[in-house]
Formats: sequence, structure tokens, C-alpha cells
Amino acid sequence: MTDNRQRSFVVALDQGTTSSRAIVYDSSARAVAADHLPFAQHYPEPGHVEHDAQEIWQTQLQALHGALQKAGVSPAEVRAVGITNQRETTVIWDKATGEPVHHAIVWQCRRTAGRCDELRLAGHGGLIREKTGLVVDAYFSATKAEWILQKSPDVAARAKRGELLFGTIDTWLVWKLTGGKLHITDVTNASRTMLFNIHTLDWDDELLALFGIPRAMLPEVRGSSEVYGMTDAAIFGAEVPIAGIAGDQQAALFGQGCFEKGMAKNTYGTGCFLLMNTGDRPTKSEHGLLTTVAWKVGDEVQYALEGSVFIAGAGVQWLRDELRILEDAAESERLAGSVPDAGGVYIVPAFTGLGAPYWDAYARGSIFGLTRDTSRAHIARAMLEAIAYQTRDVLDAMQADSGLTIKRLLVDGGATQNGFLMQFQADLLGTVVVSPAHHESTARGAAFLAGLAVGFWASRDELLAALTDQTAFAPQMEQAEREKLYAGWKRAAERSQGWISP
Ligand code: ADP
Repeated sequence: MTDNRQRSFVVALDQGTTSSRAIVYDSSARAVAADHLPFAQHYPEPGHVEHDAQEIWQTQLQALHGALQKAGVSPAEVRAVGITNQRETTVIWDKATGEPVHHAIVWQCRRTAGRCDELRLAGHGGLIREKTGLVVDAYFSATKAEWILQKSPDVAARAKRGELLFGTIDTWLVWKLTGGKLHITDVTNASRTMLFNIHTLDWDDELLALFGIPRAMLPEVRGSSEVYGMTDAAIFGAEVPIAGIAGDQQAALFGQGCFEKGMAKNTYGTGCFLLMNTGDRPTKSEHGLLTTVAWKVGDEVQYALEGSVFIAGAGVQWLRDELRILEDAAESERLAGSVPDAGGVYIVPAFTGLGAPYWDAYARGSIFGLTRDTSRAHIARAMLEAIAYQTRDVLDAMQADSGLTIKRLLVDGGATQNGFLMQFQADLLGTVVVSPAHHESTARGAAFLAGLAVGFWASRDELLAALTDQTAFAPQMEQAEREKLYAGWKRAAERSQGWISP
């Protein structure tokens, strides 16, 4: 290691849905210091979610300087900046003034759900899926941008005249960090817009026409790990290369070191987010998973299959806040461990319907197998097991779609603190589950992408060597027992479907 490198650092900006974070990494990929600031959530109507893009920028900038200060690092000692962000959230702003024309419309916002129904009914679903790898849904940016442009004739006219710019949050932050010099995004963020062709890796003219988005307002699409340009010294405190960009889930996949095809990660938070690296070709899903770009590094593009579980840790919160059978989330582990099994109880936490591979919006939460002896310990255990069963559902779908076998599952997120859950997950999959010591996989992924681009780290092998500080859970359950338990879950999931009427 050169002396030079000892006093140099990489900063990751992790712009999330509820807070803006910054983490400073040293050359051994250790997090030296972090800072984060929450910002306001705006709910103008039920189901509508907005952020103030200026507040996102201000909190992000403050978190950046806060983290540097805590680390005792000066801006000039930063070798590269990496950015990771909440995906799909859409900002449109005036190129000349930098003023957003509307609040950012957040990925969670359902305001364009009706428009998406319309698109499906009009038969656009197949084309959109073919080109973008996505199912038509209000999550993705296309209908959000369309909505902003159609809201006022003035805005639409300014967009036509080329006066407005579109961006996801990465694009917005880079534009601000460079003092308006760079209007770019990376392939991973582009792949979540529903405007981007994941085969040609370019904006798709047919989709742009469908949503009435002028090409001129779109950012240039770049790789995920390259020097895009320099920060404005007046803003950052020095001219520093911006050298890595990836959406949050893809960044987590990279930060977990899932560089080879067949490697997968699961983030256990409110819900679960699973991604599996499927190598250099997009894999079409027969099970309702999304096909997405994992990253582009150099000339190499890798793809991923993505699936999510709507209710994971949120089920534990429900036990705590609504059923009130837990003091705190951690108590679920003690309770689950106090009984030898769930006593035949299965909980299907389909509070908002079921996602992949069932895709049933009319399913509702259900508890099966109650008897006179069922205790709160059984209920707590069944809820934790449900997180693992739903994860297996998605991983089985991924393996069926890709023909690849997952050798170990890399995990992160708040609920990975639950040792019972991690062990049960390993048992149920028959696969080793590996949890890193440093839980911020998302920020670390952005740092890795940026550091590789500037030679701060020489290779992926060097990064893998930095990821050795891990806890592994090896499967201990007999195959027959595993399949018997899982068969019970499949019956329960089946019976919770179609519960409410359309
Ligand atoms: P998010 O980023 O989605 O807000 P986090 O990664 O912060 O989520 O994780 C928080 C979630 O994890 C909550 O839903 C909480 O119920 C769950 N959780 C936290 N600790 C535990 C635990 N020890 N056992 C089970 N679930 C937990």
C-alpha cells in the first residue's frame, strides 16, 4: 500500500427513501465515519408520495460534509465519490434555473396506477416487458414523468422546447454536484425507468413516444463504474472524480461481492429485496420476476433477476404494534427459540396481497393450524418462518428461470440481526446464509464501483478479500423435514389466495 493511499478515501453517497446518508471508506474498505439526515415525506393524497428534490440535495450535501468532518478527512483527500440511490423516483427540473417543476414523485407513489391499468388493457404489457424487463407498474419512472409533463400545458411546452431535464435521483445529485455540468445516469438506474431498452442499452424511441417524453430531456446513459466528471470545488470543497453510480439494490448486490452469475443477495428490511446475478445475458422470467441490469463495469454488462417480498420485518412490527405480543423486534428471536417448532402454525402475511411467484392482489393475511395449545411463541416463530418461506419462493423462481443454482445466500438489512431467522433460512434453503460484519452493503457497493474506476482498489479480488469478516449459517435440517415444512407453507399460501373480491 502506498503512503498516498493511506491518507486517501472514497465517499459513498447513499440517497435513500427516508434519509440521505454518506459514508467514508478507507483503502481497506472499512467505514471510517458516516452521517445521515432525514427529510420530509409529503403525502398530498392517500397513496401519493412526494419528496422535495431541493431538500434531498441539501440533506445529501450536509451528510457528505458531516461524514467528512467526523472522519477528519478533507475534501482534497477524497479520491472518488460513488452514488447509490432510491430507484425510480422522478425529478423534472428547469435546465436554466435548476428549479424542479414539481416535487419528486417517489417510487412508492400510486398516482399513476390507473394509467398503468390502461396501458395493460391497451395491450402494451408484452412490448414493455420485452424491451425493459419490467412489468407495467406505477413504481417505474415512465408514468411519473408523463404525469408531471401532462399536469400543465406550460410544463409540456417547456419540455418540447428542450428547457427541462428529466432525472432519477442519481442524475439529480450528479447535476447538482457538478454545478449543472453533467446530465447523466447509469445503466442500472436507467433500467428502472420503463423507458430504457435493456437489450440495446439505450432509451427506446417507441416507449418515449408512448409516454410523450422528448428524448432531449433524458440524461446520457453511462456505465456504473467510470469517471463521469469532477465535482464542483465550490460545492464539494475540491475537484473530485464522481466515479460510481448504481441504484440501491444493484449497489447492494455489488457491495455483497455477488460478482459471478448464480450469486444472490437478500435484504431483510420492512420487505425483502432479492437480486440474483444471471451473468451477461438478460433472463426472461416465467414467474413474474423482473429482469434488470446489475451493472456495467468497463465493457462488461451483467444482468440480474429481481423479486421482492412485500411483508417481511413489517410482519414482526405488526406482532409488536398491533397484536402486542412482543416488546420489541428482538424478542421474536427469544420467543421463537423457546419452542421446538411452530406447532403446525403457518402465517401468510399477505397484508397487501402476494407478490412473486403468486401475484395475487386479492390474497390476504391468514393464520393456519391454530389449536388450543397455540402460544404467542408459536405465532412469533411462524411469523419469522414466513419471512424465510417467502424468500425461498422467490429464490426457487429465480433458479427455475435462470437454470442456475444458488450456492450461498448473501444477506443484509435490519432483520438479519435475528439469528433464529438466519438459521431457519439456511435450513429451509439447504444453502449457506452469509451475513457480513458491515451491514451497509448498499453504500459499500457504491464505494466499490467508484474506487475501482479510479484504481483506488485494483481488482474485485481485492474487494472480496475485504469481505471476509462474515457470519455464516450452515444448513442443519434433514432434507425430508425441510420439504415437509415447505409443503405446509405452499398449502397455506394457496389457501390465502383470492380471499377478497376484485
Ligand atoms: P427498512 O430499511 O426497510 O426500513 P431495516 O433494514 O432498517 O428496514 O430493518 C427494519 C425491519 O427489520 C423492521 O421491519 C423490523 O421489524 C425488522 N427487525 C429488526 N430487528 C429485528 C429482529 N431482531 N428480528 C426480526 N425482525 C427485526
